Amino acid sequence: MKMLSSRLDPVKPSASAWVSQAAKDAIARGEDVIDLGLGEPDFDTPDHIKHAAHAAAMAGKTKYPPTNGTLKMRKAVVGKLQRENDLEYGVDEIIVSNGAKQVLFNAMMATLEEGDEVLLCAPYFGQYKDIVLILGGTPVTIECPAKDGFRLLPENLSKAITPRTKWIMLNLPSNPAGAVYSNEDLRALGAVLRDHPDILILSDEIYEHILFDGRTFRSFAAINPELKDRTLTVNGVSKAYAMTGWRIGYGAGPKVLIAGMTKVQSQICSGACSIAQAAAAAALNGPQDDVRRFCAAFEARRDLVVQRIARIEGLTLDPPGGAFYGLIDCSGLIGAKTPDGQTIETDADVTAYLLRTAGIAAVPGSAYDLSPFFRISTAASEAVLDDAMNRIAAAVSQLE
Ligand code: PLP
Repeated sequence: MKMLSSRLDPVKPSASAWVSQAAKDAIARGEDVIDLGLGEPDFDTPDHIKHAAHAAAMAGKTKYPPTNGTLKMRKAVVGKLQRENDLEYGVDEIIVSNGAKQVLFNAMMATLEEGDEVLLCAPYFGQYKDIVLILGGTPVTIECPAKDGFRLLPENLSKAITPRTKWIMLNLPSNPAGAVYSNEDLRALGAVLRDHPDILILSDEIYEHILFDGRTFRSFAAINPELKDRTLTVNGVSKAYAMTGWRIGYGAGPKVLIAGMTKVQSQICSGACSIAQAAAAAALNGPQDDVRRFCAAFEARRDLVVQRIARIEGLTLDPPGGAFYGLIDCSGLIGAKTPDGQTIETDADVTAYLLRTAGIAAVPGSAYDLSPFFRISTAASEAVLDDAMNRIAAAVSQLE
């Protein structure tokens, strides 16, 4: 008996979740493993946000919320987009969902027809591809190599567009490479898209606050206002406010699209948790000092990792401009022999070797459609990262 739908056949479990689970299992067995797999801030959610959740629960905000989000949270999103992103939206152009992940899923579910093409910039957040596959769309990968700063170049975008292109997915700054786009870069991409009025643009800006070296953030839709009526800006509180467990994300876009996504959401979950929405509204409306504190810590960790990787022969890490990952080029290790006589052929071999020998859980670049690389998360303390770098250096030095 085939129990599961064939729609799931092409979908692999999330590599970072798999790596992280393998690390947790190893830790539970008593093994000494450092989990650098999962993209989750190690900070706790700030207290004023937790207090807002408590107050909402005690005030009886415990009933089904409106499907598209509580008015308070949608107003908080409207205010945030105005204040921080120079974007004007009405409350009926906002949807609040169970994480940015569900915003992405709702958007694809609401719009994709069988065979519609979705352009992805490799290396990309793995879920982009899997959602498209589940929904019968066709993911089309555009390689964005290190020599281009892992950015999508306008000429490569032009070449990838076909009459079946439905969406282009952008991630600013990006997971896993920490690629950052200048205003000119975004304008140039916008200029290409202006000539293709049937293409929708998804700008996933969930890492907007984690930007280094004094960079400031600009939203795609703010740089390209003439494309705003076909852009879905996606964001959430998971990364900026250390709120991964609260599961709140949001999208801002044209009314028709948001209404379609709300229809999808009404069938899936009737909206996001009312208490978590109260907390997320407090996060957006409240003091932003913690966001800056988190970003400064991520920048110091980025510096530490970049300096330490530079000393390891066979590995290269260009300093990421944002987000909290290091996408490490391990092409120098391909073909090397491990002490037990195995040949390293792929980046998955590198991560398997690091887990086995050094107790380091990292995600192979193949999970993001760009090899040979591996991704480490810098969402760990400097002491843990220092230990991790020592272990990686020792393991690599044993290769021949
Ligand atoms: N978009 C990107 C690029 C991510 O890296 C992640 C999480 O890792 C998400 C979206 C999903 O975030 P959320 O926790 O809001 O579902």
